[in-house]
Amino acid sequence: MREKLKTKKRIVVKIGSSSITHKETGGADLIRLEKLVRELTDLHNGGRDVVLVSSGAISVGLKAAHIRDTYYDGTKKSDGPDEKLKLKQAAAAIGQARLMMMYQKLFSEYNQTTAQILMTKYTIVDNVNRFNARNTFEELLTLGVIPVVNENDTIATYEIEFGDNDTLSAIVASLIDADLLILLSDIDGLYTDDPHSNRDAEFIPEIIKLDESIDRFAKGTTGSLAGTGGMATKITAAHIASASGCDMVIANASDLGNIHRIVNGDDIGTYIHADKRSDFFIEDYLDEE
Ligand code: GLU
Repeated sequence: MREKLKTKKRIVVKIGSSSITHKETGGADLIRLEKLVRELTDLHNGGRDVVLVSSGAISVGLKAAHIRDTYYDGTKKSDGPDEKLKLKQAAAAIGQARLMMMYQKLFSEYNQTTAQILMTKYTIVDNVNRFNARNTFEELLTLGVIPVVNENDTIATYEIEFGDNDTLSAIVASLIDADLLILLSDIDGLYTDDPHSNRDAEFIPEIIKLDESIDRFAKGTTGSLAGTGGMATKITAAHIASASGCDMVIANASDLGNIHRIVNGDDIGTYIHADKRSDFFIEDYLDEE
């Protein structure tokens, strides 16, 4: 089954904040960023289109503005939702620029051109915006660029936000007709229950067809200010990717070499097979506001 992964031509890789920042400070983990960039450039050198969906803007921004300690987990009691939102959006503005500067520097070491694409839900919902976004991706990929995508956190408020980059990465994969989405996370893949709290939770290496039994495994597992997601958003992403005709692998980011191993067909992570729906329409997968 995994042999199929060797033939993939257009790959979206999603990496979360916790995988590219230091847990203690929220600052960028340069060693891991460097490895990530090397892996991605190598995929591209092998003749594939590559898109990176990277979180980390808020985390890096909080650190840069020296507010990481106070707001470490986003639960400063006195803060109302408006204060938290303002802070996150300001941190994202600072951090996104820093993050991109690091990506550009690291990619340039391999003569790899990169670009930044920031999106909101509105980019997908609006027909003209969606059309333009798709064209831009196509053009960048034709030019041999590796686009780095994030949510436009600085302007996205509740009504127009994806809210998490798991969903965003699946939306991007479907927008550009990618044939593989690699979701890198801090766990090995999907389990039948939360392995942190249930020792009997079993690992799921492969899902041929996503059904309700899989949805039941979804658990909200993270609640930090900087990162979002958890199992539930990964399963949402899996539904989008699969219905759009894109295979997906959820794997552990602890070893970034997993990226090339997955594409070599090695048994890593949870492999969710595409199950293309003829009536797939990207907008149907975004919550109504
Ligand atoms: N877009 C956010 C950031 O760059 C993270 C969202 C997520 O972790 O899913 O910091």
